[in-house]
Amino acid sequence: MSELKTIDKEYVANTYARFPVEPVSGKGSLVWDEAGKEYIDMGSGIGVTAFGIADDAWVAAVTEQLGKLQHMSNLYYTEPCALLAKTLCERSGMKKVFFCNSGAEANEGAIKAARKYAAEKKGPEYYTIVTLENSFHGRTLTTLAATGQDHYHELFQPLTQGFVHAPANDLEAVKNAVLQTKAAAVMIECVQGEGGVIPMEKAFVQGLADFCKKEDILLLVDEVQTGNGRTGELYAYMNFGVQPDVVSTAKGLGGGLPLGAVLFGEKTEFTLGAGDHGSTFGGNPVCCAGALSVLGRIDDQLLKEVKEKSAYIFKTLEGAPGVESVSGMGLMIGIKTAKPAGDVVKTCMENGVLCLTAKDKVRLLPALNIPMPVLEKAIEVIKGACV
Ligand SMILES: *Cc1c(COP(=O)(O)O)cnc(C)c1O
Repeated sequence: MSELKTIDKEYVANTYARFPVEPVSGKGSLVWDEAGKEYIDMGSGIGVTAFGIADDAWVAAVTEQLGKLQHMSNLYYTEPCALLAKTLCERSGMKKVFFCNSGAEANEGAIKAARKYAAEKKGPEYYTIVTLENSFHGRTLTTLAATGQDHYHELFQPLTQGFVHAPANDLEAVKNAVLQTKAAAVMIECVQGEGGVIPMEKAFVQGLADFCKKEDILLLVDEVQTGNGRTGELYAYMNFGVQPDVVSTAKGLGGGLPLGAVLFGEKTEFTLGAGDHGSTFGGNPVCCAGALSVLGRIDDQLLKEVKEKSAYIFKTLEGAPGVESVSGMGLMIGIKTAKPAGDVVKTCMENGVLCLTAKDKVRLLPALNIPMPVLEKAIEVIKGACV
């Protein structure tokens, strides 16, 4: 470990503050480091390994595809890509899918589609996208501009033009921002993830969807973190009774391989045409085979269990000593602790539980199928670390 740390520090770009742990293998929600110490994984690689590590069905799906065709250009038809698009549309009420490789890239696709739609429909001056304060939409220059947190912007000016931020859960403020800027679209996370695991109010999301419909403003929902079963519905917007015009997703979709998707609804299904957008790796057959395995198992029973496990976490931690509040939805949980979140995460790590942080909170994104006894054990450790 100490040697690896030295090599990593010398040769890997300094963009990450790494924890002093070297995971070498895992199974489901358990992970082992190079010294054989066992941890319960309550982060899933930031909500990526939806069914845990080295999940048997996912490994089988991926390796079978790997042995047949690991990549083919988008100049040709491939079965996993077409079947995954069909599954996504049938289960989301959306009409078409563009595949890419990451969350930021999915948001880029969503933003490009929104600009083209509004330019064609209303005129080229309708290019602004309104996003929410405290949001997070990615690290590219455009998705950074979309991200409503100034501290991400400072060192990288000038960012892409045409983004304004309005306060979350303030419908009047968002409406004003839209009307004043001749906006093309509003983009939201239904639960702000990096911003501190903060769910939007139902009345806000519904009011926003109604307003967007009335004004022909596109509603873009960033489901990169909230999507694919994470909140107890297949996509988080389904908790709010709205139907977005564009949905972006990634993280958990591929179950551990890089895969992003932009889902287009009725208004936008034909907006991007041949040559308007593309990706060399997008729709990779191995990633899509993994995603088909993931989506195939996010059924009503699994979603019910996600909600039950969520309720268990809220019940156990709310009001516990050292816990100030618990927020989130499904298995996307933020814990505001009396102690600094980083200290709680450190104690948890020493005691064999890997957690994340989001702003000033401890954040949990366990595998959707984490077994109840494993979850109970992890929550006991977290509860102890808060005191
Ligand atoms: C993680 C995240 C992104 C960025 O995804 P990458 O795959 O890291 O590009 C965008 N939006 C939200 C809501 C996210 O949580």
